[in-house]
Amino acid sequence: MRARRISKSFGDIVALDGIDVEIAEGQVHGLVGPNGAGKTTLLGLLLGLARADGGELEILGSPVRDTLAVPDGVAGFVDGPGLYPSLTAWQNLAALARLRGDGADGIDDALAEVGLTDVAGDRVRGFSLGMRQRLGLAAALLTKPRLLVLDEPANGLDPAGKRHVHRVLSRLAAHGTAVVLSSHRMDDLAALCSEVTLLATGRVVFSGPVRTLVAGALAGELEYRLAASDPAAARRTALQTPQLRVLDGDDLLQGHDPDVLLVRAAVPALDDLVARLIGAGVGVRELAPVVAPLEAAFLALTATADAAGEPR
Ligand code: ATP
Repeated sequence: MRARRISKSFGDIVALDGIDVEIAEGQVHGLVGPNGAGKTTLLGLLLGLARADGGELEILGSPVRDTLAVPDGVAGFVDGPGLYPSLTAWQNLAALARLRGDGADGIDDALAEVGLTDVAGDRVRGFSLGMRQRLGLAAALLTKPRLLVLDEPANGLDPAGKRHVHRVLSRLAAHGTAVVLSSHRMDDLAALCSEVTLLATGRVVFSGPVRTLVAGALAGELEYRLAASDPAAARRTALQTPQLRVLDGDDLLQGHDPDVLLVRAAVPALDDLVARLIGAGVGVRELAPVVAPLEAAFLALTATADAAGEPR
């Protein structure tokens, strides 16, 4: 899938402002961004639910024409999967298969893949959000898509559900399917995707491997919590460490624990601090970033884009 200078407005609202995104075969690609960033709008274009105002969109090697139809080989959903609440999970998939003129082959496998075998005979009305999401994924799997488009598929998933979805997406990608999914949670995406595109106010502020984003965040200064065997000695040592600041008095970040020290530093200064603590015979019990590096990168990039963006 290749998007070049794609733009899309709704009246005065510019939802997509000339974005470029490329998703290769066999890649699980995450779209992340704050509410209103344009994620669903872009996914809707891929599913043929709307047309772009400008730019070029190529899906599975073919340019998207001016028709509103799901392109061949594409499956997925935005705004939750469309399901019949009065039918069971199995019947929902059978109904979808019939609509496409297919038989019931593959339904049991698709349900097993998303971990819904035990509730195959239960009505969807009683399903939780996470179960609906997984059934939506099973429905998409039945079509053997080459491009799978999912809007917030991790929403409502418990850790076991996330593992199922992760396995399914990895397997699809290993067989060459391109997967694009959205989330506004960086940690969910990091668990599911190798590459991410970060959207803010309709623009791409980052597109590339997740590890590049993490490396970028770690190259700058971050805040870390430090719990040590001797908090007073740890504070003295930290105050003597060059290129490192001891932050005081933020009970919220310190979790109301006066023995936890909050410091701000880049990785080399942090390494220096640890060496000095060990040298001084102070035990390090916990040393962790206050905000995970990925989340920090996300916040920094989207905040910059917001500040630079036009009022919407
Ligand atoms: P969220 O995380 O909240 O789902 P998103 O990144 O998916 O957000 P979009 O739903 O793509 O964002 O919306 C982008 C912008 O376009 C928003 O300002 C939204 O209000 C606007 N928008 C989207 N669809 C429509 C529509 N059909 N009519 C009018 N405005 C719309």
